[in-house]
Amino acid sequence: MLKGKRALITGSTSGIGLGIARALAGQGCNIILNGLGDPGKIEATRSGLEMEFGIAARFHGADMTRPDEIAELVMGMVTSFGGIDILVNCAGIQHTAPVEEFPPDRWAAIIAINLSSSFYTIHHAVPLMRQSGWGRIINIASVHGLVASANKAAYVAAKHGLVGLTKVVALETAGSGITSNAICPGWTRTELIEPQIVARAQSLGVDIEEGGRSMLAEKQPSQQFVSIEQLGQLALFLCSPSADQITGTAIPIDGGWTAQ
Ligand code: NAD
Repeated sequence: MLKGKRALITGSTSGIGLGIARALAGQGCNIILNGLGDPGKIEATRSGLEMEFGIAARFHGADMTRPDEIAELVMGMVTSFGGIDILVNCAGIQHTAPVEEFPPDRWAAIIAINLSSSFYTIHHAVPLMRQSGWGRIINIASVHGLVASANKAAYVAAKHGLVGLTKVVALETAGSGITSNAICPGWTRTELIEPQIVARAQSLGVDIEEGGRSMLAEKQPSQQFVSIEQLGQLALFLCSPSADQITGTAIPIDGGWTAQ
């Protein structure tokens, strides 16, 4: 179904982005990976995807705080593959602090990486998708695009903004063959939330696993983490013909978090 489609996944050197890249590669997509990390490990990931799935994989290290580098990243899709069919905006960071102590530089970085970078990728990708009359934009928002938690001013603001951007782009592209949707995961065990698990464990004086269980108990009624594979499958569904009429949505995958 997706064989030969061209996919760009920002923030795909680890965690959810890498999981979605694997799911797309598994369906025959050619991909560009993006993100930070150790160059040797990134190259092993890139070449590993090519060998495992028989697709073409490239890496572009654009910094998602830099609009000029983001433009080069999207244009890299044209250079490498002649265009872009699937855009997954997944790059993200976190910082937790009460609003009166929230460091302004962390506010700026979170808004830049978790929100503004998606504006820039979409801004450059939509004209290319319009040329081919088909496109899928999948923004990895969060439950925090739908509801708030204390100590996450920048993250919640950015993710609510990303859900809003998703809807605007859906309206502007409706009927063009392009869809724009947000996926809103609950707790998913990745590097992004590891510091929060460690902090919870320390504050309770328990081990890491118990710290994770405590975080789930507070917010996620299923008491289970969302898996990276489940997020990959949801992204694939949004790329399928069954999802042609799904646009402008923010889909929770959160073990019941936002049902409360
Ligand atoms: P992660 O830390 O494993 O992945 C984050 C990715 O973003 C990495 O590839 C990292 O290199 C990249 N990145 C960070 N700063 C960057 C920059 N300046 N330029 C380019 N790339 C940059 O964490 P994750 O949990 O996989 O997070 C992926 C997305 O999922 C984020 O947007 C996050 O907000 C969202 N999310 C995560 C959870 C969760 O519980 N883990 C829940 C909801 C939403």
